[in-house]
Amino acid sequence: MSRRSLIGRKIVLASHNPGKLREIAELLAPYKIEVVSAGDLGLREPAETGLTFIDNAVIKAEAAATASGLPALADDSGLAVDALSGAPGIHSARWAGPAKDFAAAGERVWREAQAADAQNRRAHFVCVLALCWPALPTGAPVCDIFPGRVDGELVWPPRGKNGFGYDPIFMASGHAQTFGEMAPDAKHAISHRADAFAKFSAKLLR
Ligand code: IMP
Repeated sequence: MSRRSLIGRKIVLASHNPGKLREIAELLAPYKIEVVSAGDLGLREPAETGLTFIDNAVIKAEAAATASGLPALADDSGLAVDALSGAPGIHSARWAGPAKDFAAAGERVWREAQAADAQNRRAHFVCVLALCWPALPTGAPVCDIFPGRVDGELVWPPRGKNGFGYDPIFMASGHAQTFGEMAPDAKHAISHRADAFAKFSAKLLR
């Protein structure tokens, strides 16, 4: 299938994470696109068995494109801490456990980073967006990949109630507020997700 513009089309957001869904919907809002979520369509969440952000983004987008017959946009993202050799990385959601307790996950990140190297607070967020088109009868779905990143440092104690996940313990380089303290528009100007989205929109929203 040719990779045409998504303008004027209906797409499915292949995520069940309310924080991501809200941010991606905000980023898509200026464009003429009809958006439904995987949850709206009753789609199941595939197991994230990949070893990289790219693998997992493609697993989610392919599954949603195949099940819905619509172009599907997935986000795989996470926090990578230098002192922890990139952990929690692709396991960022799993560190919060089944209860999705990100206060506890943030505390673990801080405690383990301090134990590993108390002088090194450097960290970055990664976001990989994958847009997969439903397969033609003759083939597998075709996907485009858009990586994004924002560099910064860990902050402790956590600050701010905005955003989601690890936002209260991350401050982007050159900024004085954590992502948890920033207004949504300010986060969207610099975030890993916005970086990936800029590449996605340059290719598929024109
Ligand atoms: P997954 O992509 O579904 O594996 O989950 C990624 C996890 O990384 C989320 O559940 C959050 O914990 C974390 N994460 C990703 N992006 C952000 C962000 O923008 N702010 C805070 N945490 C994030």
